[in-house]
Amino acid sequence: MLERVRRLRQLIDESGVEAFLVTGIDNVRYLSGFTGSAGVLLIGPDEALLLTDARYTVQAGAEAPGFEVVTVEKTWLELLAELLQNRVYQLLGFEAAHVTHQQFLRMRELLSMVELRPLKDLVERLRLVKDEEEIRAIRQAVGLVDEAFPWIVDRIRAGRSEREIALELEFALRDRGAERMAFEIILASGARSALPHGRPSGKVVEKGDLVLLDCGVVCDGYCSDFTRTVLVGAVPEPWQEEIYQVVLAAQEAGIRMIRTGVLAADVDARVREVIAHHGYGEYFGHSTGHGLGVQVHELPRLGRFSEETLQAGMVVTVEPGIYLPDRGGVRIEDVVVIREDGAEILTLAPKDRLIRV
Ligand code: ZN
Ligand code: ZN
Repeated sequence: MLERVRRLRQLIDESGVEAFLVTGIDNVRYLSGFTGSAGVLLIGPDEALLLTDARYTVQAGAEAPGFEVVTVEKTWLELLAELLQNRVYQLLGFEAAHVTHQQFLRMRELLSMVELRPLKDLVERLRLVKDEEEIRAIRQAVGLVDEAFPWIVDRIRAGRSEREIALELEFALRDRGAERMAFEIILASGARSALPHGRPSGKVVEKGDLVLLDCGVVCDGYCSDFTRTVLVGAVPEPWQEEIYQVVLAAQEAGIRMIRTGVLAADVDARVREVIAHHGYGEYFGHSTGHGLGVQVHELPRLGRFSEETLQAGMVVTVEPGIYLPDRGGVRIEDVVVIREDGAEILTLAPKDRLIRV
């Protein structure tokens, strides 16, 4: 953790401020190790403070070695104002994305001893490249879903509702040790599978339905993200088989391209090209993938407008889909680690053919 603070100090220095206020709770956890739900960090050249309230003082002391824990009595802003009285900082950076307008107005009022400067994505940029410890946690979160997948496949069948199946899956994932879901399970069958983010509904799964299942869990603070599409019934219709094969070919082409030095936008373009080549370009509306870590969506994005160059240690999803309105859709999503010479695929669940349940 202290290594992360050291790297952050370099960025703070480069951005021209003297101290930096971290209010995004995921960033607080990333930098300090503190897992509570309320806390902010003040990072200066020679100090690292964690401000939290009495519910968390003991926990913070144990989880965040290297940080001086200061207990908030009224509000963290009032405490911060007091702390800044005794310091010489003139320029204080804060996280533009993690301060509400209301908080900002209050900051301007109470922290008049400093000039406030909004900064963008400072900690998010640190989070781009994962260390092996973080990759281990992601691998564990991915493995947990992999393990539950055949179990849930056995429970997808005609006559059961989407909601029933999703609930069972959530139970199975929590039971296997997931800290929590990384996001609400997406499970959509039949024509509803054409909704890329379909919520499980009361709809009953029927024979001939494609069932799109997208879920992820959190282990040790790190997320996984996974999608497979299965077919209920023995024989796929030709269009179902075809879009499955096209999505698979596009996904594999994207993964094959991934290595250090490749532009994220080029991976997206390659995937899109395969889908467009088969005439389904207009049915793939979202981007190809996203980074994941302490949050399920983080940098880098694999999309048309991504500016990032892939680097070893980044972890991304590759998840193209084809969604035919009123008919159904297919998405396949794996998590990969970018290495010097290629992509290491963490997801092990089978995908080479349309699974029939
Ligand atoms: Zn997903
Ligand atoms: Zn995803």
